[in-house]
Amino acid sequence: LEHISNEIIDKAPNVTWGDIAGLGHAKKSIQELVVWPLKRPDLFAGVRSPGKGLLLFGPPGTGKTLLGKAIAAEANATFFSISASSLTSKWIGEGEKLVRALFGVAGCRQPAVIFIDEVDSLLSQRKSDGEHESSRRLKTEFLVQMEGCCGGDERVLLIGATNRPQELDEAARRRLSKRLYIPLPTAGARAAIVQNLLQKDGLMNLSDSDMDSIRAKTKGYSGSDVKNLVKEASLGPLREAAMMHGNIDTVTRDQMRPITLSDFENALH
Ligand code: ATP
Repeated sequence: LEHISNEIIDKAPNVTWGDIAGLGHAKKSIQELVVWPLKRPDLFAGVRSPGKGLLLFGPPGTGKTLLGKAIAAEANATFFSISASSLTSKWIGEGEKLVRALFGVAGCRQPAVIFIDEVDSLLSQRKSDGEHESSRRLKTEFLVQMEGCCGGDERVLLIGATNRPQELDEAARRRLSKRLYIPLPTAGARAAIVQNLLQKDGLMNLSDSDMDSIRAKTKGYSGSDVKNLVKEASLGPLREAAMMHGNIDTVTRDQMRPITLSDFENALH
C-alpha cells in the first residue's frame, strides 16, 4: 500500500457542507444516516445500529465525491478514495491485495470513510461465465472485506458512487443499504456554484440580471459542467489583457477587467 497511499488516502479533506451547492435533502439525510453514527457510535447501538454502506447515485459531476469528502471532514475521519475501474485495470492482478490492504488500513485509522467511485464496475451483476475469473475474485474479496470491516462496532463507512445503479448486483445492493439520489443542480444551485467559485478568487462582479441569464443558459448542466464554464469564462479578461500587451509576460492582476456576462456568453459558444 505504501507506494500508492498518497493517491488514495486524504487524511483531512477540507470540504465543508457550505462548499456544496444545493442538495439540501441529501445533506440532511447524510448527517443523520452516516455522520452521526461515525461521530457517536455509542448512541447508534441496537435498533439504531447503522447500515453498512451508502450508495450515492445519479448523473456524473453532481457532487458525489464532494459529499464523500464533506462526510469525512465532518466526522473527522480519514478519507480513502479509489475508483473501481483503477482497481480492475491499473492494479491488474494486484487488486485483491490492494482491497485487503485498503480495508486493513481503514480499520486501523478509524473513523474512516472509504469512497469507491464507479462502484458498478466492481460490483456489477454480470453473469459469472461472461466475467473474467480475476474480476470475479476481486468482487468476492471486496464483499468479504466489506462484511468484516464495515459491520459490527467498526467505525468504517463505505460509500459507493455510481451513474448506473441498475448494474449493481443483489449482494452489493444489500450491503449499500442506504441509497441517495444525487440529482443535477437546480437553477439556484447552479448560480450558487458560479458565485462561490468567483467569490473565492475575489472575482464576483456580476449583477442579479447577469446571474439570471447564466441560470437560464445553463439548464441541464451538472455542477462539474458549471465549474468548467466558470473556468473558461474566467480566461476572457486574461486573454484580452494578453492581447493588449502583446504577450502575457507583463500582464498584472490589477490591469485585468472584471469577468462579465459576455465572458460567459463566449464560453458557452
Ligand atoms: P462523477 O460521477 O463523474 O465521479 P461526482 O458526482 O463525484 O462525479 P464531483 O467529482 O463531486 O462529482 O464533482 C466534480 C466537480 O464539480 C467538483 O469538484 C465541484 O467543483 C463541482 N461540483 C459538482 N457538484 C457540485 C455542487 N453541488 N456544488 C459545488 N460544486 C459542485
